[in-house]
Amino acid sequence: MSSTGEPSIFTRIAAREIPATIVAETDRIIAFNDIAPQAPVHIVITPKTSQYSNVVELAAGDPGLLVELVEVANAVAATVSNGQFRLVFNTGAAVGQTVFHVHAHLLAPQTAAGTLGEGTLGFR
Ligand code: AMP
Repeated sequence: MSSTGEPSIFTRIAAREIPATIVAETDRIIAFNDIAPQAPVHIVITPKTSQYSNVVELAAGDPGLLVELVEVANAVAATVSNGQFRLVFNTGAAVGQTVFHVHAHLLAPQTAAGTLGEGTLGFR
C-alpha cells in the first residue's frame, strides 16, 4: 500500500490489473517495459511487495531482496541486450521519483538482431 492506502501502480501491474509487457518474473520480483522509455531498452524492475518506497529502505529492510532485484536485472540485460546496463534508482521526488514503490530502471542499448541496433544509450 502507498501512503494514500491505494495499491501502487506496480502492485496493480503485478496483480495483472493493469496491462504491461512483463519481461521477467520470480516469486518476489517483476520486470516490465517502461511505458515511457528513455533508452532503447528501458525496463522497470520492482519487488512485488510495496513495503519499501525506495532503495535505501529496501537495502535496510531486506538486503536479500535487493540482491535478487540486481540478479534479475543482470539476467534480463543478458537476454534483451548485451549484458551491459545502467541500473537507476530514483530516490526522492526532487530527482524525479514519481512511484514510491521501490523500483530500478534498467537502461541498455538494444542489440538483438532485427531491433534498433543502436550501440549506445544516446543520453547522459
Ligand atoms: P520513477 O519516476 O523513478 O518513479 O519511475 C516510474 C516509472 O514508471 C516511469 O519511468 C514511468 O514511465 C513508469 N510507469 C508508470 N506507469 C507505468 C505503467 N503503467 N507501465 C509501465 N511503466 C510505467
